[in-house]
Amino acid sequence: MYRKNAWENYDGEERARLGAFADAYRAFLDRSKTEREAAASAERVCRAAGFQNLDDLIEAGAALMPGDRVYRKWMNKSFMAFVVGSESIERGMRILGAHIDSPRIDVKQNPLFEDDGLAYLDTHYYGGIKKYQWLAMPLALHGVIVKRDGSVVSVAIGEGEDDPVLCITDLLPHLAQDQMAKTASKFIDGEALNILIGSAPAEGDDKDPVKRAVLEVLKRDYGVEEEDFVSAELEAVPAGKARDAGLDRSMLLGYGHDDRVCAYPSLMAVADYEGTPEMTLCAVLADKEEIGSVGASGMNSHFFENTVAELAALMGCEKELSVRRALQNSVMLSSDVSAGYDPTYSGVFEKKNAAMLNLGVCFNKYTGSRGKSGASDANAEFMAEVRRVMDDAGVCWQTSELGKVDVGGGGTIAWLCAKYAMNVIDCGVPVLSMHAPWEIISKADLWEAYKGYCAFLRA
Ligand code: MN
Ligand code: MN
Repeated sequence: MYRKNAWENYDGEERARLGAFADAYRAFLDRSKTEREAAASAERVCRAAGFQNLDDLIEAGAALMPGDRVYRKWMNKSFMAFVVGSESIERGMRILGAHIDSPRIDVKQNPLFEDDGLAYLDTHYYGGIKKYQWLAMPLALHGVIVKRDGSVVSVAIGEGEDDPVLCITDLLPHLAQDQMAKTASKFIDGEALNILIGSAPAEGDDKDPVKRAVLEVLKRDYGVEEEDFVSAELEAVPAGKARDAGLDRSMLLGYGHDDRVCAYPSLMAVADYEGTPEMTLCAVLADKEEIGSVGASGMNSHFFENTVAELAALMGCEKELSVRRALQNSVMLSSDVSAGYDPTYSGVFEKKNAAMLNLGVCFNKYTGSRGKSGASDANAEFMAEVRRVMDDAGVCWQTSELGKVDVGGGGTIAWLCAKYAMNVIDCGVPVLSMHAPWEIISKADLWEAYKGYCAFLRA
């Protein structure tokens, strides 16, 4: 099957629009290095686009009318936006889904220790990472520390020009003979991922003077004590901004393209929608996908279903059956990044069914691994519908599988929406160096994803 390179389709005007969209996405990435920050960014986008907070409307017992725009943040880590349609919600919704958590290094609940005159934060990594990639590079610390009285201290250290950064040290090659003989998975232990956080001692003769000095800074700058780590969520992420990549500036190098490169265009397609749709439109941005969508803010929780029930109630559909019908009759593009074909590692891909950079938004009829184990498999009938919608809108699109049949595999949030018996298909943007601290995407694929999502909402 021949697929045209997306760049060949663009005139000057579309290139300019694509460039502006990529710039806006880059700014979103820089403000959204954690799921909490991404949810907050999404809230800002929606408020600026005239969306109301659904929780305020629930509280007020307000009615929802066609054309109303509402959003809901769940536990500050997941986010949903809706545009109310003119049809009954029982007729179903048009849903765009993605996730906003990314692989990273979390700080433990009792993290701070001093060892031979250096102070460290002990960590527990989150998601599927190659641990060695996180050594000897500048790290920033983002998150919240919630004190006993419930007050929340927001933390973002390492992003400003003059901010200090943190680092996990690596062994010098001169002494790494044994280390270098290890396999990559054994190269560094999870327990050795300790973040160097200080080296100068505080005054006084008590033990652990370097650790005490770090605690003094935390007290001075954030008003927190060592005990407060217990109720903190602190995430170490690569420090610094996303950048244009390539001399032609055709790509973006950034942290957390997985899956914000799908979350952002999904959100914007709903936020940018003008007028009143027939079916209710929805963007759902979930937390915890990288660790199996578990927990109260993950797609396996009932937060989405509950929110649809609230929405239905404000539209006058109080019956449980209405909610079941709303979900069952919905159609969904469940977006997550695809493994971009990389010529350097061509051996793990089956080229004619691989996601190519610059061939546009990528549809995966099924996911899973080996014998399609754990696959969410979209119906051919639905695939045909999506195909027609994309072609009619002039969207550049492709299909792919994740690697060769026996090499590996993966899954996303699609199967969790498929359990409502709705039509859902996996799709997304190809990524190079997926799950590395810095990942690469093509601006053209980002743009085609946005165009594809807009077309799906208008279909
Ligand atoms: Mn993902
Ligand atoms: Mn991932």
